[in-house]
Formats: sequence, C-alpha cells, structure tokens
Amino acid sequence: MIIKNLSVKTVIKPLKVLFSTSLGSKEEMMSVLVKITLDNGSYGLGECPTSFVSKLETIEAIKEILTYTKKQIQNKPIEDFEEIVQFLRRRFFMYPMTVSGIEVALFRAYLNVIGIDEYTYWGARLKNLETDITIPFLTDLNAINSWLNYGIKKGFKIFKLKLSGDVIQDILLLSKVNEILNDSTSSHTIRLDGNQGFTEKTFLKLQDIMEKKGYIIQCFEQPLKKNDFSGMKVIKKYSHIPIILDETVFSSCELNRVISENICDGVNIKVAKSGILESKRMIEIAKRHKLKLMIGCMTETMIGLSAGIYLACGTGQFDFVDLDSIYYIRHKRNYGNINLVPPFFFINWA
Ligand SMILES: [Mg+2]
Repeated sequence: MIIKNLSVKTVIKPLKVLFSTSLGSKEEMMSVLVKITLDNGSYGLGECPTSFVSKLETIEAIKEILTYTKKQIQNKPIEDFEEIVQFLRRRFFMYPMTVSGIEVALFRAYLNVIGIDEYTYWGARLKNLETDITIPFLTDLNAINSWLNYGIKKGFKIFKLKLSGDVIQDILLLSKVNEILNDSTSSHTIRLDGNQGFTEKTFLKLQDIMEKKGYIIQCFEQPLKKNDFSGMKVIKKYSHIPIILDETVFSSCELNRVISENICDGVNIKVAKSGILESKRMIEIAKRHKLKLMIGCMTETMIGLSAGIYLACGTGQFDFVDLDSIYYIRHKRNYGNINLVPPFFFINWA
C-alpha cells in the first residue's frame, strides 16, 4: 500500500489548571496532529505535542519538519515504515517528539493494512489500567485545593506531585497535599516528579525532611538535571525512594547508558518522546535489567495518549502509570474502544 498524503492540523486547548513544573508553566496545550493517508483511503493519526522538555519543538518547527517529511514519504510503500522512521530519527535527532508523532501515524496506517489493532499488537494482556493524576507545582493554596478536590471527586487514588526544587516551597506543598488527602481519602499513594529541579544536596535535604515528617513516597521521578550523572550516582546510593528517570532517557541508547552507570531504579517510557519502535526496545532492555517501568505522557489529546494506553494495556508490563493528560482538557467518556472511568481506562475488546 502506497502513502498518498500527510496532512497537518494544529490543536490548542485551554488547560483546566495552570500546568506548572520546575521547567515552566502553561495555561494551554498545543499540539500538531498528523494524518497519514494511504492510496486505499485508510489512514493513521499521530500527535506531535509541545513540551518544556524539548524547547526546539515549537509549532512552527514541527510544521516545517512535517512539510519536509511529506515530500520524502509520498508514494513510498507503508511497509517501509520502519526504515522511514529510522531515517527521520537520524535526520531530526533534536526533534524526538515530532518524529514520534509521525511514527505513530505511520504505525497506525501500517497496522490497518496488516489488519491488526494496536491493543493486539502489544499483546492484549490487560483489560483495564489505573492512572495517577498529576498535581502541578502550585503556590496558590486555593488552586491546590480545587485541583486536588477535582482529582479526589473523580476517584483518583494515586497523586503525582510536581516539585520545584526549592525545598521550603516543596515541603509546604507536600504538607498541604498530605493534609487534604488524609482528610478526604481512606487511602492514597503519592509519587513525586522533580523535573530536574534539584541538586544532590537539595534532594537529600528534602528526603531527610520527608522522612522526619513521615511522608510515604512511592517513587521520585527525575530529581536532578538530565546530564548530572555524577549527582545521580550519589543520590542512587543514598535515596530510600526508587528513582525513575524521565528527561535523561529518550532512547534505548540512553537507557543502556543509565543502566551501565547504575543510576536509577526505573525509567519513564513515553510514546510521545520515544515513539513505537524505541519504546518497544526500551521495555525489553528495562525488563532484562529488572528496572521498574513507568509509562508517561506529555500534555496530549487522546490521539497521542491512546498510543500509550494501548501500549501499557497490551504489554501489561508497567509498574507506574501516568497517563493523565486527557483530564487536563475537556474530554469525552469514550474514544473508540477506550472508556474513561477514572482512575481507570477500560478497553472494550471482544
Ligand atoms: Mg516526568
């Protein structure tokens, strides 16, 4: 089957809460949707999100790459999708999320041709999946209160807090969140995400205070700068909380490096940053080395998020699920065969 067209649509949606992390804050999400159409009329959809993590990938830059890609892939057989993706990854290695969006669209178009649905492709193991919900780093107590209550009312049990790296501010946020959760839920789990905001010193200080206060933390994502390998070695040695790397690891190559340096307990895999083929390799490598697996997302609509839902449900391999971006925007209850019954996604599959 031949690739006939690549078309593009920009989506901008207001977020229900200020999305604030140690890397920056935003009030709306912006993505570029990609549609790959084949000569028999079938198609695949993908999403190229924007994120503080990859600042080069602006809407303009994404669109430029898509225009280039369209010329490159028109009239090529969809069966070549793996080679096309490899070529794009080399050509645009500074634009991983853009290539991943194109890859998901190509992958879905390819699956249509070979007659396999995405959930089956990944193994069709789980019928449902429980996600956490992210609490942005907010200093406005009313805003924290109302977003936490939104999550509690929706039925979420696992809360992932974004921290700033400022120990005093972070302890204030943590104590507020603990207070609200203890008052209104019978049981809950807390995960933390530093988004590179800490140094080894501030991380260890925070850990110390959290221990004294008796806070129980399930895992801590990316405390230090993504390239601070010596710092990560130190905190891996002294941390009592499992360390999960996110921004440090975009590819299987980077995953192999962090494994050989022994600086983490797990890795956050996102289709939006690594695409399909690399995510698959990374899962295999992580499993072989007994790392914990988290699946995450960017600020994405269901076009992109669903790729992660199918992957996580299909493989059934993930210890921590953080696929909550859809709850930041207005959404429906059903998308194809995925039903949203927070905190779960259910797959309707015969
Ligand atoms: Mg993260």
